[in-house]
Amino acid sequence: MIGVGDMVLIEPLSEDTFIENLKKRFDHNEIYTYIGSVVISMNPYKSLPIYTAEKVEEYRNRNFYELSPHVYALADEAYRSLREQDKDQCILITGESGAGKTEASKFVMSYVAAVCGKGQEVNKVKEQLLQSNPVLEAFGNAKTVRNDNSSRFGKYMDIEFDFKGDPLGGVISNYLLEKSRVVKQPRGERNFHIFYQLLSGASDDTLKKLKLDRDFSKYNYLSLDSATVNGLDDAASFRTVRNAMQIVGFMEDEVQSILELVAAVLKLGNIEFKPESRCNGYDESRVKDKNDLKEMCELLGIEQSVLERAFSFRTVEAKMEKMSTTLNVAQAQTKSRKKVMGVLDIYGFEIFEDNSFEQFIINYCNEKLQQIFIELTLREEQEEYVREGIEWTNIEYFNNAIICDLIENNKNGILAMLDEECLRPGTVTDETFLDKLNTVCAEHQHFESRQSKNSKFLTDHSLPHNCFRIQHYAGKVLYRVEGFVDKNNDLLYRDLSQAMYKANHSLIKILFPEGNPAKVNLKRPPTAGFQFKASVGTLMKNLLSKNPNYIRCIKPNDKKAAHIFTDSLVCHQVRYLGLMENVRVRRAGYAFRQAYEPCLERYKMLCKQTWPHWKGPARGGVEVLLTDLQVPAEEFAYGRSKIFIRNPRTLFFLEEKRRQ
Ligand code: ATP
Ligand code: MG
Repeated sequence: MIGVGDMVLIEPLSEDTFIENLKKRFDHNEIYTYIGSVVISMNPYKSLPIYTAEKVEEYRNRNFYELSPHVYALADEAYRSLREQDKDQCILITGESGAGKTEASKFVMSYVAAVCGKGQEVNKVKEQLLQSNPVLEAFGNAKTVRNDNSSRFGKYMDIEFDFKGDPLGGVISNYLLEKSRVVKQPRGERNFHIFYQLLSGASDDTLKKLKLDRDFSKYNYLSLDSATVNGLDDAASFRTVRNAMQIVGFMEDEVQSILELVAAVLKLGNIEFKPESRCNGYDESRVKDKNDLKEMCELLGIEQSVLERAFSFRTVEAKMEKMSTTLNVAQAQTKSRKKVMGVLDIYGFEIFEDNSFEQFIINYCNEKLQQIFIELTLREEQEEYVREGIEWTNIEYFNNAIICDLIENNKNGILAMLDEECLRPGTVTDETFLDKLNTVCAEHQHFESRQSKNSKFLTDHSLPHNCFRIQHYAGKVLYRVEGFVDKNNDLLYRDLSQAMYKANHSLIKILFPEGNPAKVNLKRPPTAGFQFKASVGTLMKNLLSKNPNYIRCIKPNDKKAAHIFTDSLVCHQVRYLGLMENVRVRRAGYAFRQAYEPCLERYKMLCKQTWPHWKGPARGGVEVLLTDLQVPAEEFAYGRSKIFIRNPRTLFFLEEKRRQ
């Protein structure tokens, strides 16, 4: 074993030894390390031969601690408890952009697919589950400065199994797609992959039908400086995606409709507007060059004049919603309850120089996930002690509930105040929102300071104009309020949705149901913040009902390079992922625990009475063994099915003995 496979066993424990251990293991291509049952995953930025069919076999049906740490061990454990103990599972994957979350989620899915059920129907479902990834990535991933294949949305997928543990299908929820990227990409970044894939990989014939040109530079939405990405073969990816769409279950004409939409978006980007003064003093926009407009209308089956008129109104770009896709549930529903394994691949904390509404929402989501982590890890720890009949002592930890409350409290939380401001008649601007925030939070703070000195809404004189600052559990973040009100309002002008609804195009009609004049709804649609809060709430409820498994992803450097381990960068992530705290919680009680059988199996050679065979229950054998080795009694607790070891040193002692 290189270094220590489980951080719980590090002696002495400090941030330095923790990071040293990660580094040592990383240098030897040991990218996985445990904290108890949590898997830390370091991105190797190179392909390692550890995801082969042989590896799958190696980890299959083995105990978590028997083999060297691997994400397969976690997947195996989760799948087995789902099948054998009938416990729904969730796999929570967190980490910053480029840390390896999406790759980890795919390894988990492919492991589960490899070990669960067989047969034609089951294999079809598996294929569908796996092939959903290329489709989602084509439309939702893009090259960013941080990651050549960055997910620009959060993803949660419930994989459903029948009583035998065979997969039935999946339900995918997407969160917070960064739609504004379609229109504008930061320097050095690209638009969503699908645009480049389509232009590079489609046949001449298809492109002609879609009225497209192969040349990226013809399209305003496709930035030029980074149109091709090293190591990405857009043309080959297009074939993969096309094939995946078919496997997932799209009919040929549906695929065609989708591609028409993609083409229409590219055309839309080329339409330029020119201002035209009206006699009433207002400016109105007019379309400058009509050819792209004409072709776009042809693609979508919209009458040109209708769309042109609708375009004279302003639209807002960022929209946030939750969208669910149900993958084919292949088999007839079995009568017994379905078992579920949820896989969550969601953006980690974002602390940029310039943080806006999106970062605020993303960080709020991470606060909630941290809550779940606290609640479930501690709860799980506590429940295990109770289950095993072992005395439990409370552990001190920082509870971030206070930050969640600051953001989501229905009365005076930041989101509620933003909503209030957005709905208020009169002149509403980002500044009036900020004023309100400062007044209310300062009052709140004043009130609170008498109770706790730790308010998380930070006010100090160094705060730049137009900003507020929050002390998140992962660090302080400065938010600039510009755009908060608009992005939260997220209004698509009715004229535009009505124009789209008039399209003679099956897909567009479905996408703009609010444009149906028969269903005119004068009620204001819920704000983006409100919708997100609601979908995060649902997600949390869902996660809380399941048994959690954690993968904490870490990025070793910000050069996307193999072999480089930047201490400061890793240290920062270790801190904000709360990993040290995680180890401490784990060690505060009993650092190590193991079922009696494997424990006896491993150490029985150390005692004459248990070697080579122990007759009777394993627990008795372990007792005899430990007494014989004169390990102090306070070092152990005998649970109903497991032995609990308080101090890592005791385990070393046993391991040392084995080696002698
Ligand atoms: P984002 O939040 O931007 O979506 P992410 O955490 O999902 O980031 P990934 O896309 O999973 O990050 O990983 C980024 C890249 O790192 C991958 O495209 C791949 O090249 C490399 N990578 C990640 N994990 C592994 C691994 N286990 N083995 C080899 N390469 C990996
Ligand atoms: Mg990702």
